This record gives sequence, structure tokens and C-alpha cells, in this order.
Amino acid sequence: MPDITVKLPDGSDLTVPEGSTVADVATAIGPRLGQAALAGKISDELVDTSHVVSDGDAIQIITEKSPEALHILRHSAAHVMAEAVKDLFPEAGFGIGPSIEDGFYYDFDVDRAFTPDDLVAIEERMRQIVAEERLFARSELTKLEAFDTFDGQPLKQELIQELPEGERISIYNQGQLTDLCRGPHVPHTGRIPAFKLMKVAGAYWKGDSNREMLQRIYGTAWFAEKDLEQYLTNIEEAEKRDHRKLGKELDLFHFDELAGSGLVFYHPKGARLLSTLIDWLSKDLYKRGYYEIRTPHVYRADVWKTSGHWDFYRENMYPFLIDEGEGKEPSEYAVKPMNCPGAVLVYASDMRSYRDLPMRLFEFGTVYRHEKSGVVHGLMRARGFTQDDAHIFCTGEQIVPEVKGMLDLVKFIMETFDFTYTAEVSTKPEKSVGRDEDWDTATKALMTALEEWGLPFEINEGDGAFYGPKIDIKVRDAIGRVWQLSTIQVDFNLPERFDITYRTAENTDERPFMLHRAIFGSMERFFGILIEHTAGAFPTWLAPVQAVVVPIADRHMEFAASVRKRLEADGVRCEVYAEQEPMRVKIAKAQQQKVPYMLVVGDKEAEDDSVAVRDRLQGDIGAMSVCDFGEMVLAQRP
Ligand SMILES: [Zn+2]
Ligand SMILES: [Zn+2]
Repeated sequence: MPDITVKLPDGSDLTVPEGSTVADVATAIGPRLGQAALAGKISDELVDTSHVVSDGDAIQIITEKSPEALHILRHSAAHVMAEAVKDLFPEAGFGIGPSIEDGFYYDFDVDRAFTPDDLVAIEERMRQIVAEERLFARSELTKLEAFDTFDGQPLKQELIQELPEGERISIYNQGQLTDLCRGPHVPHTGRIPAFKLMKVAGAYWKGDSNREMLQRIYGTAWFAEKDLEQYLTNIEEAEKRDHRKLGKELDLFHFDELAGSGLVFYHPKGARLLSTLIDWLSKDLYKRGYYEIRTPHVYRADVWKTSGHWDFYRENMYPFLIDEGEGKEPSEYAVKPMNCPGAVLVYASDMRSYRDLPMRLFEFGTVYRHEKSGVVHGLMRARGFTQDDAHIFCTGEQIVPEVKGMLDLVKFIMETFDFTYTAEVSTKPEKSVGRDEDWDTATKALMTALEEWGLPFEINEGDGAFYGPKIDIKVRDAIGRVWQLSTIQVDFNLPERFDITYRTAENTDERPFMLHRAIFGSMERFFGILIEHTAGAFPTWLAPVQAVVVPIADRHMEFAASVRKRLEADGVRCEVYAEQEPMRVKIAKAQQQKVPYMLVVGDKEAEDDSVAVRDRLQGDIGAMSVCDFGEMVLAQRP
């Protein structure tokens, strides 16, 4: 048989006999890779290991470690689930079965909803299919042949009808099930080592509420039993840590249907935590040469027309009309969805010179955006929220040092909260404003700043906003979830639209660059993430109540009140548990509220002017004077 030559990812060539499959290529590269091969990638297309390669193909072998591997595994698991359902429910109709984040699903047309017992039975049948190591065999048919093959499966036939004429249609068979599918799959069912069916939900065919309601079974699949276990533990942990649940238990905030969804009401404890956070950050920003501004919540529509929001963002805004009286046109106003124009108006309120730059203006600005009700989610996605916003007006040369300063701030904040973090740079999208040279300057400046600061980054080609490139910072929380938090953004658009300038040393007028940046992003969202990250056990410096004073008997009430008053005066956030409850109930309450310290006061303490301190984690740590206790708490500031 003649030989053909394929290209490997390292640039080298490999000669194999004609008719070789991806699996053969993998084995030729190394027997171990042959064992590990799950699929292949030719140019950008994923293919099965049974795919026959052609001369000149550039081939990459997909193993469990490849980024595409979990998708292939999960999609293969969906086929196995479908086969199990076919065995147990021979009358079932079949919809589609894609892989999704963390798992897969398959939609079935059955005459009753699946029960938890059904899931157990389906899972059991899946295990047998996996144990049989059945091959996923691919074949290609004409449209007509495919239509016949799926006789009695109207949903599949509907999908086939929609495929373009003349195209070969691929089907896969693994034992009892033949399914319409592009592939690829793992070589055989035995390569699906760890999986679990999670839940059932109703789902309309094609998401269309006029079509039939199908039963969707969700599952998850992993390459190792331990990964599956970790995933299940994380889900359980995430449920325990749900910020909406803890927000209620810790009495931090609520949402009120009377006011509308996505609008948060902070209760005293939530508000106190938020103020602590804002005061702490403000102090730090002043040290870094920022100045605070406060701008209005409502502007005449002219501001939004100038900024461009009126044309491009109005559906997310709260606009309204004001009656200006008899014979006059009503005025258009809108609540601010962004703080940026406010900062621009502060900049534009005076002549600015190069000596004023960089000008760093920060604002804890509350904005309102009308998010669709389907996406509103507790504090994570609210309709009203406060940004830790800042706008820096600077020259092109100042972008690098300014961004480095911001990265320093990011590091300080992420380390304070024990988050690990990564960076991504998003570059010029297809549709954009601004001169190419400005895009170039700004994009290079962001990357140079990251390089000089020593933070590795990935590049999201073409993912920048239409008005400039940006850096996104993502954090990993205590249970391994990743959240997009900080953004550092260059803007060519607003300085142009508001026609802002500065006077150079040569007495000419130049356009400044504008940088937007938010480290927490939205304070609400950060609060939500922090609740879930800490499971509500905030670090002492941030806890809304740092200590509760517990009088042993009624006669110690007065002393307890004086302890609270003195500690509050020193800046320690303090409460008295005055209810007549047994001590163990009070201890349990303080534990449940995750209060860092409990101060028990009785005769002896009243006499010595001391408190018996109980640490939430360490238990009793002995008696100390009220003053010493206050100092110990205050010393825990970051
Ligand atoms: Zn498939
Ligand atoms: Zn902004």
C-alpha cells in the first residue's frame, strides 16, 4: 500500500500507510498516545479515532487532557443515556442530546414524566452499556436513506428535513441505538468512566412553546470518579453557600416584589458591611492619588444622546418624561445606566492642562439597568447596583503606568480576599470606533503594562468593546468557581463625543485618553460572591457584627450595654444579646450568625471591667479588659 504523509502539531511530518485512521496515527506517534486517543482534530474539525486520514492532513490527537475532551465525553454519554432510555421505554421519541457546561442532556418524547426511580434504572442500564465497551460506529447516508432510517421518529425526521439537500448525513450506531449526529464520539462506550444523571425538567421541542413538551434528562460525566465526586461536592457546597439563602439567614438584604425584581434592600447588617468595604477602599484610593466625585442619578436625555447611550442602550435604560407645564414640550430624562458621562462632565467643567493629567476620579456610583427578568439573579445580576467606578483621563504615554497602578490595586484587593486571579486582554472587534493608531497604542499599552507588572494573560481576539480594548480579571473562589470581576477599559469614544481636551506644554489642544476601571465591578455582585466565597463567615474586619455581648443574668444588662457602647466608640461593631434565653441558645445563635467573637459578662467581669472572650473558631480564649479586646479586633484590619 502506498504511504501518505500527515503533519503533526510540532511541525514535523509523519508517514503512514494509506487508509490509516486517526487511531493508527496516534499509535504511530507513540503506543501510549494510541491508548490515550479519544478523537482527532484535523484542521479545526474534530473527528473520530476511526476517521481515515488523507495525505497532507494536519492532525492533532485529542486525549483526556485536551480542552475539547470533556465535550466529546459528555456528548457520548448523552448517546449512552438515549440507548438506555430506548431499552427501558421502547415507545420513547428522541429529540436532541448535546453536551453543555458540566454535563449533557437528552430530550425524550414520553407519555409521562420520568421519576427519580426511572433515573436510577436508566443509570443502571447505562452502566451495563458502558461495561460492554460498544463501538460508536459512524456511517454516512443520503437524505432519503436517513429519512427511512428514522422511520417512526418524527422529531429526528424533522431535523433531517432541515438539513441542506445533497449533503451526506452522518449517523452513529452503538448497539441498540442509531442516532443522527455529526460526531465525534469517544471510540467506545467503555471510555465513559464516571457519570451521573442529575435531574429531569420539561422542555419544549426547539424551545417553542407551541410545540410538544419533552422530558429533558440532565447528566454529568467525567474522566475520573474523583472528578465526579468533586463536582457533586461542589454543587452541594454551592447550594449551602447560595448568597440568597445566606442573605436571609444572616439578615443582610432582601428583594421586594412590591418594588420590582432586581432591586436590593440592604438591611442594617448588609448596609454596615457594604459601608465598611466602601470606606476601606476609599481610603486606599486617596493614598493612590484618586479623588472622589459624586454625580447625579438622573440626567436630561441630551447627556445620553451625546454619549450615544440613547441610540445604543436605551432598551436597558429607565427613561421618563417630565411635564414642563402648559404649552411647553415635555422634557426627556433618564436614570443613569453608567457613571462615565458624569465623570466626563466633571472633567469638562474646567480648562484642563497637561499638568492636571493623569486625573483619577472615583465614584461609588449607583446605576440602573433594565435587565430582562429571566437574567436577574439575586445580587449577582441586579437591576440597580453600585459600581466602584473610576475614570482616569491621561495622555497616551501615561496609559502604561496608570494600568500598572490599577494592576497593583487589583493585586492588593484580590490578596486581601484570598482570591487567585487571571487576566485576559480583549482586542479590536470588527465594528469599532477610533483611529487604528489609537487602537494600536492602547492595546499595546495594556499588554506592556501586564508584561511589566508580571501578570500572564490570554488574548481574546476581537472581543473588545466597540470603543476600546480592555483587560478582564477573573477570580477563582473558595470552591473553585470562576467569576469575572475587574475590568480595565480604554475608551476612544466618550472623549470624542463630549469633545474634551487638555492644553499641552506647547499650547495646543489634545484629546486625552479615558480609562474606565472597576475592581469589584458591582458592589452588589461582589457582595454576593463574597458571601458564597466565605460561606457568610466574613473576615473579622468586614463582619457586620464583630462581637456580641452576652450578659449571664439580668443584673449584668447594664454592664453589657456599657461594654457595647465603649466598643462601638472605638470602632468595633457590637451587639448585645439581651433576650432571656439559655446560654447555649445564645452561643448557637452567635455561631449561626457567624459572629467572630462572643463576650460573656457576669459578676466577675463586671467587677474587673473585663470580658470572657469566645472565638467563633477557637472557642474560649480567656478573659481580657474591654480595651484590650477592642485593640485586638481593630488590629485585624487588612
Ligand atoms: Zn453524537
Ligand atoms: Zn466608565
